Amino acid sequence: MWYMNEDRKLMLNVVKDFVEQEVKPVAMQIDATDEYPVKLFKRAGELGFLGITIPTEYDGLGLDHTTAALIYEEIAKACPVLTVAMGAHSMLAGGMISMLGSHEQKQKYLSKAATGEYILACGSTESAGGDNHVEHTTKAVLEGDEWVINGGKVLVSNIGVADAYVIFAATSEVDPVTRAGISAFVIDKDTPGLTIGAWEHKLGWHGSATGSISFQDLHLPKENLLGQVGGCMMAAAVSCTNEFLTCGPVGLGIAEAAYEMAFQYSLERVQRGLPMYDRFQVTKFKLVKMRTMIEELRGFVYSTYAMKDQGEMVLCEGRMMKIRGSEIAEEICREAIQIFGGVGVIRETGVERFWRDAKVLAIGGASVEALQDFIGTMMRLKKF
Ligand SMILES: Cc1cc2nc3c(=O)[nH]c(=O)nc-3n(C[C@H](O)[C@H](O)[C@H](O)COP(=O)(O)OP(=O)(O)OC[C@H]3O[C@@H](n4cnc5c(N)ncnc54)[C@H](O)[C@@H]3O)c2cc1C
Repeated sequence: MWYMNEDRKLMLNVVKDFVEQEVKPVAMQIDATDEYPVKLFKRAGELGFLGITIPTEYDGLGLDHTTAALIYEEIAKACPVLTVAMGAHSMLAGGMISMLGSHEQKQKYLSKAATGEYILACGSTESAGGDNHVEHTTKAVLEGDEWVINGGKVLVSNIGVADAYVIFAATSEVDPVTRAGISAFVIDKDTPGLTIGAWEHKLGWHGSATGSISFQDLHLPKENLLGQVGGCMMAAAVSCTNEFLTCGPVGLGIAEAAYEMAFQYSLERVQRGLPMYDRFQVTKFKLVKMRTMIEELRGFVYSTYAMKDQGEMVLCEGRMMKIRGSEIAEEICREAIQIFGGVGVIRETGVERFWRDAKVLAIGGASVEALQDFIGTMMRLKKF
């Protein structure tokens, strides 16, 4: 592949070994039990996968975004939910600390996040709507040397297992266009006033520990503010873009896994004397279409990551990546289940879980429609 080089090949070998030996044996179990994969997550930290782009000064690997994409793609082929936990931790929460944190905050949180010593979560969504920041009600008021926070967040990943939460709260009236007035804070898990809710039972992403957190007169030292008062939304846009970008390689990994399973099955399943692949032209054509879509997505993913590595913001391309990554993954998984026939809908076969994870990919973190809305606005303003 044109985007491979010696360093990336080495890293790919490391992640392939990890996936083969440690992830694949437990992936179905995680889906079945909905247990958060703490052990795998910590192991990913030991191998450097939680701090791929974090500077070495803060115990990350200091590598490029393309290497991160390769790692996310490979893990998603076996266990998409692990990449989701990694995205919330490294890209969303870690991204905010990386961009806005002081040296002390980075030493305290980012270094530990890079190695997996700490698990991070990021709470933005409220019941008024994920994209509807203007009607979010969580507020932070400065009283002397402390911020006092009241409110709550819903559908937050990594809850309960997280050691610290990066959250957003209004510190003044919120500008409906720029969203100025919203500030970011980092809250340690044992801070009085922080209540962690129960995990939701979800269609997919089993094991992502998603649920509500709330704040009742939560007193936070002044120094737990990230960046400037009321001015975190640019950093949020970039960290969200980095998380949306991962949905490209994650969607690609999911699509490749489902396609491979269906292709193998079509060669092994005999129908009236011939493997399905040779017996039914429709099956062969389905697989050709699936493979074509995979190669289209691969091209989009790695060309966009190359732009990112050259320093481009890719605000719209990053959102397109989440849209196409989830759409292509979902379509390929749907067709893969169809090729399997009846056994395709049986959990133990292992193909339907990829469809469930692909479906959630189109909503978790941001709905594809909200992303289209953003891109449409940028196009109207001729900024894209
Ligand atoms: C498994 C999972 C994990 C998640 N993890 C996190 C997390 O770690 N942190 C976090 O903060 N949030 C997280 N979320 C929340 C997620 O970001 C929101 O679910 C998402 O943004 C949609 O918001 P909503 O659920 O409030 O739906 P709503 O905002 O009510 O939207 C419902 C539908 O309305 C449409 N819509 C909404 N806004 C627009 C728009 N602007 N333009 C066009 N159509 C629109 C879309 O079709 C959308 O699906 C997670 C969600 C899930 C399901």
